[in-house]
Amino acid sequence: MDTETFGLLKDQLARYVEERLIPAEDAVEEADDIPPDIVAEFKAMGLFGLSVPEEFGGLGLTMSEESQLVRILTRASVTFRSLIGTTVGIGSQGIMIDGTEAQKAEWLPKFATGEAIASFALTEPGAGSDAASLRCSAVQEGEYFRINGTKRYITNAPRATVFTLMARTDPGNRGAAGISAFIVPADSPGISLGKPDRKMGQRGAKTCDVILEDVMVPAANIIGGVPGQGFRTAMKVLDRGRIHIAAVALGMADRLIEMSLAYAMERQQFGQRIGDFQLVQAMLADMEVDRLTTAALLERTAARFDAGEVTARECSVLKLHASEAVGRIADRAVQIHGGAGYMAEYKVERFYRDVRLLRIYEGTSQIQQTIIAKSMMREKS
Ligand SMILES: Cc1cc2nc3c(=O)[nH]c(=O)nc-3n(C[C@H](O)[C@H](O)[C@H](O)COP(=O)(O)OP(=O)(O)OC[C@H]3O[C@@H](n4cnc5c(N)ncnc54)[C@H](O)[C@@H]3O)c2cc1C
Repeated sequence: MDTETFGLLKDQLARYVEERLIPAEDAVEEADDIPPDIVAEFKAMGLFGLSVPEEFGGLGLTMSEESQLVRILTRASVTFRSLIGTTVGIGSQGIMIDGTEAQKAEWLPKFATGEAIASFALTEPGAGSDAASLRCSAVQEGEYFRINGTKRYITNAPRATVFTLMARTDPGNRGAAGISAFIVPADSPGISLGKPDRKMGQRGAKTCDVILEDVMVPAANIIGGVPGQGFRTAMKVLDRGRIHIAAVALGMADRLIEMSLAYAMERQQFGQRIGDFQLVQAMLADMEVDRLTTAALLERTAARFDAGEVTARECSVLKLHASEAVGRIADRAVQIHGGAGYMAEYKVERFYRDVRLLRIYEGTSQIQQTIIAKSMMREKS
């Protein structure tokens, strides 16, 4: 997108966040849902199609551009981002990265308009960090695969039109090479949803189990058309997703710092602003260091992604740093607010709960650490 148009888009989104989304945050928290008119506005603004190439009707943004918009969007409650997050990211990227031309032609235009919502279904009750051990089975019967299994904590499952779902097509291979990625329409007979998960935070963002009982999926729905590639596809999707999550962390950091700074400059104790106490200043300064290091690392990693140069290790370094950094920022934000920071009336309380998820999904911090360290050792040997 040319610089001027992109600048206008950023300004438009920033205004929308300020004037429309931030005032709607409390209602979303209370209703545990996003109002339909906001969903419609997201569609009208093209937000579902950020990452879809222009030839398929999307905005065709680069990762650098997507990161900037996601940062702006997540100044408002991160729940709003979750609405588009799986369609822009992990739910659709398998098709975008590894899909056949026919698969792209069928799905990408629908993702671009928000007509179809995509979810990513990898995790299972027995397979979280060790995703390669997943047990959901896909057995070929002629032109179809019969899929059986349960997927857990699937974001946007209640809203999904389609799942990109990883299942084991080779029962003889218990590892990654036995896994294929499928495009599974959510209305396929045999699919049912568990009851909505009750979560610590991110109210309004929906997750639940997806249960598959004898779901027949055409063999043509294997992403890329080749069985056994599904785990690799999922890992490519997650590498990109980790850059997206860092942008989420940064948007949340912006808001947390904004709120903390305002509070520190307004709240009086011992006859002065609490921001005049050096111990409070230390917290503010540490927050800023965490924010700027995240921003710099995000800009670099997204640019390297766009240049086709990024490695899985760099994506993990970024995700680890960004999610841990915003966790520290949220913790300090609550501290700066004192007792008020513990009260639901102040938004830092909600951000503190919402931000906790970033260190867990799309690979826990420990999994990022193992990816980074293993890669360092491989390089050395
Ligand atoms: C709100 C929410 C939304 C989600 N959305 C989706 C989604 O849309 N699609 C999807 O597929 N999944 C989704 N997930 C699943 C998420 O990705 C997993 O929860 C996550 O990967 C961790 O898996 P687990 O919960 O099974 O934890 P476990 O893997 O059981 O981990 C438990 C603990 O053990 C540690 N651990 C595990 N293995 C190692 C190791 N080798 N070395 C060191 N420590 C280790 C972990 O770091 C963690 O601290 C979502 C989860 C949540 C909570």
